[in-house]
Formats: sequence, C-alpha cells, structure tokens
Amino acid sequence: MYYNVYMFAEKEYAAVRRETEGRAVLCTVSKKHSVTEIRQAYDLGQRIFGENKAQELCRKAPELPEDIEWHFIGHLQRNKVKQILPYVSCIQSLDSLRLAETINREAERQNRVLSCLLEFHLAQDDTEKTGLPSSEAFAMMEACTPLANIRIDGIMAMGPNTEDETRIREVFAEGRRLFEALQAQYPSVHILSMGMSDDYPLALEAGANMVRIGSKLFQEE
Ligand SMILES: *Cc1c(COP(=O)(O)O)cnc(C)c1O
Repeated sequence: MYYNVYMFAEKEYAAVRRETEGRAVLCTVSKKHSVTEIRQAYDLGQRIFGENKAQELCRKAPELPEDIEWHFIGHLQRNKVKQILPYVSCIQSLDSLRLAETINREAERQNRVLSCLLEFHLAQDDTEKTGLPSSEAFAMMEACTPLANIRIDGIMAMGPNTEDETRIREVFAEGRRLFEALQAQYPSVHILSMGMSDDYPLALEAGANMVRIGSKLFQEE
C-alpha cells in the first residue's frame, strides 16, 4: 500500500517548530505516510502524531517507539474503539455521546482515563459534515461529565474549505469563543486544536494552542 516516494521535510519542520514554539503543540499528521517517514520525524524529536484510520494506526504503531503519543483525528466507528485504545493517548474526534460512552467503557476495561477532544463542525457553509454543532457543546460536556474514564481536555475544529481568509478567521474566532466559554465552566478544558498545513498561521493568530499539520511536513523525494 505504501510507496515510499515521500520523506519528512526537515526544513519545513524546523520552520513550523519555530512558529509554534511556546504557542502551540504540534501534532504531526502522519496519515498515508510510512513507518520510515514517521521514524525520520521521530529522529528529529517529534513525538506527537495524528492518524485518522484505525486500521492504519494499528498497523504502524507497533512498529514504532512506544514513547510516541498517537492522536486519533478521524471519524471513529464505535466498533474500532477497542482496537485503537491500546495505542492512542488522545482521541481528538469525539463527536457523539454514543462514541463517548463506548470509549469510556473500553477505557474502564483497560483501566485508564483517556484524554478526548470534542470535535465541532463550525464551518456551517461546508458540505463536509463531521463534528458536533456548537449549539450542542454544553449538553455534550454535561453528558460526558459522569463518564469517569474519559476526560474532555478541549476541542478540535477544522477551518472552512475556502481560500477566503476573512471567512477562515471568522470560523477560527468562533472556535476560540466556544473554547473560552467551555473553559470558563469546565476546568479540564485547555486544548484548542485548530489549524492544518494551509491555515495554521490564522489558527495561531486566533489562539489555537495545538495545530495538526500533515502535507506541509512531508515532501516528495
Ligand atoms: C489530514 C488532516 C489534517 C492535516 O491536514 P494537512 O492539510 O495535510 O496539513 C489535520 N486534521 C485532520 C482532522 C485531518 O484529517
């Protein structure tokens, strides 16, 4: 499945590290990239990686060092929770109460408390629909509170699929407002995960303290 035509982009990585230093945690999105490429990033000091497919994560993680923190960032089916749980340190794409309950149950069985982020769908004009609407944020937090084996550490959102910077700023500003509103009521909330290769500078401006960057950090050989 993998064609090793990519390599980890050392210069871009150094630049992104400088830009995010002291402001945001960098989650390097390694989906579709090989164990070899991830190892190149690891050797440069990267420890947090994001994957969006359960099967791919479960194939790659056992071949890589155990001190990697794997973040799950894709749509997660409930019947895949059990298999990814031994590998993940954070599920950023928590988008339903049923999924929260499943993660909680499996985490309890594996005797741990799992860090999760609520994923919100903020760009209402986008056709792609993953994530909760912001109107459900407080009800969802409330419903997750009794689930002792998950901890809602923050929120995750994607920018709109457009090049219109004004629009992108609006969406990220909404993410920031939602984050602050939740944080005011729920002390566990401290992560605002927004920004990908094309829009992370705007996300940082808006106050994101975690960015998820993939394609910019891998270049064709
Ligand atoms: C793929 C992906 C990213 C990274 O996107 P790039 O444009 O490759 O930087 C970030 N977040 C999520 C949820 C993704 O699926």
